[in-house]
Amino acid sequence: MTATSEFHHQDILALGRQLRPAVIAIDGPAASGKSTLGFRLAGLLDYLFLDTGVMYRAVTWAVLAQGIACSDEAAVGDCAHAVDIDIRAPGADQQDGRHTTVLVDGRDVTWLIRAPEVDRNVSVVSAYPEVRRALTTKQRQIAHRYGRGDADRPGIVLVGRDTGTVVVPDAALKLYVDATPEERARRRHRELEKQGKPVDYDQVLADMIRRDRIDSERAVAPLRPADDAIRIDNTGQDAGATLAQAVRVLRQKVASD
Ligand code: C5P
Repeated sequence: MTATSEFHHQDILALGRQLRPAVIAIDGPAASGKSTLGFRLAGLLDYLFLDTGVMYRAVTWAVLAQGIACSDEAAVGDCAHAVDIDIRAPGADQQDGRHTTVLVDGRDVTWLIRAPEVDRNVSVVSAYPEVRRALTTKQRQIAHRYGRGDADRPGIVLVGRDTGTVVVPDAALKLYVDATPEERARRRHRELEKQGKPVDYDQVLADMIRRDRIDSERAVAPLRPADDAIRIDNTGQDAGATLAQAVRVLRQKVASD
């Protein structure tokens, strides 16, 4: 039995319509499976999926493309406020494995923001308070609109590092997804190999540990579980099992409200 057939779709849609506010926040470190979980959970609930990480990646890409030094905090902050980031559901002609289409000033950068140069610089850019202010404001506006039920979908799933703690601390359900660093590095390594980008496993592990350290130790909005987040450790678990676990948690949450 697959994880999704374990649940009746109509029953899950009904759960999503009972959650108030209709906001789910999922946080966790790099390659923890939070985006896969968020994307699939949003699909089951017919909620909007908002991966906040792509917004930090989009700013980092814009900074690099404009030749701004990532160490120039003031210029990077200005760029974060000025840049126009648009996140859309992929069109029929964009079914290439993407969860969302990301536009920066009208240009499709969905795959460009996954470049190693963005990976290496995104944590430094994300630690600047002005960058966080710019993006957190946008994320909250979107989340509140969907959470109130004033949008084209009945709710929203946000994924990131600080969604449960800072962006939407009033989310009805908060999950914190984690796995061992070795397992997460193995996943990222496999993903890069599949994309035809062979890299050394030890290098992937070292880069990931470095990024997690910067994300966890920064002064503003560090990566950490919210006090009321439910933790899911998916080491040794496939994506279907993690989804099944999240749906069980959601069901318990709705039943207890
Ligand atoms: O989730 P992903 O690995 O794509 O995120 C890229 C980077 O964006 C993270 O390493 C982190 O520095 C930053 N980020 C953040 N806050 C979020 C989401 C992502 O600082 N809510």
